[in-house]
Amino acid sequence: MRHRIAVVGAGPAGLTLARVLHRHDHPVTVLERDPAPDARPPGGTLDLQEELGQLALDKAGLLAEFRALSRPEGQAMRILDPDGTVLRDWRPRPDDRAHPEIDRGQLRDLLLGPLDVEWGRGVTQVVPGTGDGVLVRFADGRQETFDLVVGADGAWSRVRRAVSSVTPHYTGVTLVETSLDDVDTRHPDLARLIGDGSVAVYGVNRGLVAQRNSGGHVRVYAQFRAPLGWHADLDQSDVEAVRSSLLALFDGWAAPVLDLLRHGGAFARRPLHVLPESHTWAHVPGVTLLGDAAHLMPPLGAGANLAMLEGAELAESVATCRGELDEVVRAFEERMWARAGRWARFTLAGLERLVSPDPAEALALFDQVQPS
Ligand SMILES: Cc1cc2nc3c(=O)[nH]c(=O)nc-3n(C[C@H](O)[C@H](O)[C@H](O)COP(=O)(O)OP(=O)(O)OC[C@H]3O[C@@H](n4cnc5c(N)ncnc54)[C@H](O)[C@@H]3O)c2cc1C
Repeated sequence: MRHRIAVVGAGPAGLTLARVLHRHDHPVTVLERDPAPDARPPGGTLDLQEELGQLALDKAGLLAEFRALSRPEGQAMRILDPDGTVLRDWRPRPDDRAHPEIDRGQLRDLLLGPLDVEWGRGVTQVVPGTGDGVLVRFADGRQETFDLVVGADGAWSRVRRAVSSVTPHYTGVTLVETSLDDVDTRHPDLARLIGDGSVAVYGVNRGLVAQRNSGGHVRVYAQFRAPLGWHADLDQSDVEAVRSSLLALFDGWAAPVLDLLRHGGAFARRPLHVLPESHTWAHVPGVTLLGDAAHLMPPLGAGANLAMLEGAELAESVATCRGELDEVVRAFEERMWARAGRWARFTLAGLERLVSPDPAEALALFDQVQPS
């Protein structure tokens, strides 16, 4: 039996779901608001864990291609004191495939493959329980019905409203992102500081993290406790104004560390929001959520991994469903809630320790998850 399945959102969750359905020859409609795959910069690098994101790629038949593209050496992690002292310098073994890095753009293209995404189709509303299934309304005024609508539309999901009245709340931590290009030729000292993977520096209630992407590109994340409106009045396109606010915030830190901010290009402010750590809802026939739409959590290396595994698992359940579609969706939700709840508690506690009044907490967390 072929159900009419729509997935809203072509991020890691939606694309993995669609790709696994495609592998099972099950039709799926992918609805994405962006007008084209490259309409926005794809973002930084993701580490995909063996038992989560990599398992999802295996279910999609894409593990070998992932291994060819990913950067196991990108797992390396160096931790410094704000005065520049190296506290930890962890490097993976050559055969370590626990959580290699991949650029988001490369992952998106890998998942897209043969998929036929409907770009420029922003969903405005999902109405369950109509006679012919679940009604989807689009920004351009059109509407369509499906047997199952999967909300994979991220933190500010429109689909979520059909099942839950909960909205994300601010964690108290703001992240400001910048980037450097051609780091090996233009900033060789910084390239050495960052190494093959990441460097992180933790101070009182603030931290700086720089991550190597492929092609000599580096993403830098300044993270600190601040009110939600931190410098909301500042023109974000005024690069020098944002830079001097950040340099003031990290005043007194070692010069090579501050060079990460001094040489950064444009800055983007991202207040970190989360959903409650045990976000569940009363099951609504014909609609479900996965990924950030279901369980937005702090960016500590789990969100995309969970999103992908959920997409793969739901796709397998739907493609092999011989009975009531609704029953397999209910079972999927129970499993997702239990696993995501554990990760939400872990990542929320982790954020408290990484951006903490006591920087020793950040080091203790690193030693806990990455024993040498
Ligand atoms: C700085 C940072 C670093 C991170 N690093 C990691 C990491 O290393 N590992 C990890 O596992 N996770 C990481 N994460 C978390 C990860 O990025 C997210 O958890 C992941 O992207 C969630 O995937 P998703 O598909 O659920 O949502 P998204 O990636 O947000 O995708 C949602 C898609 O839905 C589309 N959309 C939105 N609204 C609509 C609409 N109304 N109609 C149609 N389409 C719509 C959007 O355009 C988008 O394409 C990081 C996050 C941040 C901020």
